[in-house]
Amino acid sequence: SENTIYRGRFAPSPTGPLHFGSLVTALGSYLDAKSNNGEWLVRIEDLDPPREVPGAARDVLVLLEKLGMEWDGEVVYQSQRHDFYRAALAKLKKQALIYPCFCSRKQVAASRLTGIDGPVYAGTCRSAPGKDQNSELQKRSAVRVKTDMLCLELTDRVQGFLSQCIGQDIGDFVLRRADGVFAYQLAVVVDDADQCVTHVVRGADLLDSTPRQIFLQQLLGYPVPAYMHLPLVTNQRGEKLSKQTFAAPVRHFDVLSQLMAALRFLGQNPPQGLLDSNLETFWQWAVLHWQTDSIPSSVASGKFTIK
Ligand code: GLU
Repeated sequence: SENTIYRGRFAPSPTGPLHFGSLVTALGSYLDAKSNNGEWLVRIEDLDPPREVPGAARDVLVLLEKLGMEWDGEVVYQSQRHDFYRAALAKLKKQALIYPCFCSRKQVAASRLTGIDGPVYAGTCRSAPGKDQNSELQKRSAVRVKTDMLCLELTDRVQGFLSQCIGQDIGDFVLRRADGVFAYQLAVVVDDADQCVTHVVRGADLLDSTPRQIFLQQLLGYPVPAYMHLPLVTNQRGEKLSKQTFAAPVRHFDVLSQLMAALRFLGQNPPQGLLDSNLETFWQWAVLHWQTDSIPSSVASGKFTIK
């Protein structure tokens, strides 16, 4: 609506069923939006077809409905938004802020500098002249954005202060892969701006990506949303829950006890009796008592229980 000053979103990648970690993210973003009288959008991040599991997006939406989490507006699919990503790249190209990159994975990995997110790209293709003219080659090239040595600072609502110097800590990063797939960093920035998202609430594994996203927002002239990174759910071995680590899917039955566990994971203190109530009572309590001050920045490995 016109008066909305809060618009949040949940942006799952449809690579499999939701697990407890994604439930925590969905819950945290939903409660933060609702307790601020805000809107809550759902965006399916289906950028990378090979990683997708057929039917996963639909399953996620069915589960959200079962959980009683209603989203505002239409669900947005990144697979339908390539024109927007292309337009953003064109805008950056006009300002000479991007360049084609022909380096192989092996060449990039050979960088002597290791940054926050793997090897720091040495910028080999940044100054390679002439190649720009060869459109045939350009089609098969990756696209990188020129970074600089300025440091970006942000104050996350849960994780606190963070400073990152993209040029040094990350290096020129990929916005479109050589196979034509748009990078998450680009798509998320374009979509959050286009959907007028004011508050981003997501897992702490994406904290390190945030300065890159703010950097792109600045280049593209977009506003910078507020960020809140929730503690990451890890298993007994300290690994992030994922398909690769065989995380158990959220069950489509017994949803109340799973929601209660997720709420407790976020440091909230629901009364035990809520378990004997119903979804409606649960949501009323959870929205009314949502307290971001109680959210821990991290939770020890395996320290959660789903009853
Ligand atoms: N699609 C990303 C994921 O599932 C989340 C992106 C975001 O919230 O910015 O990890």
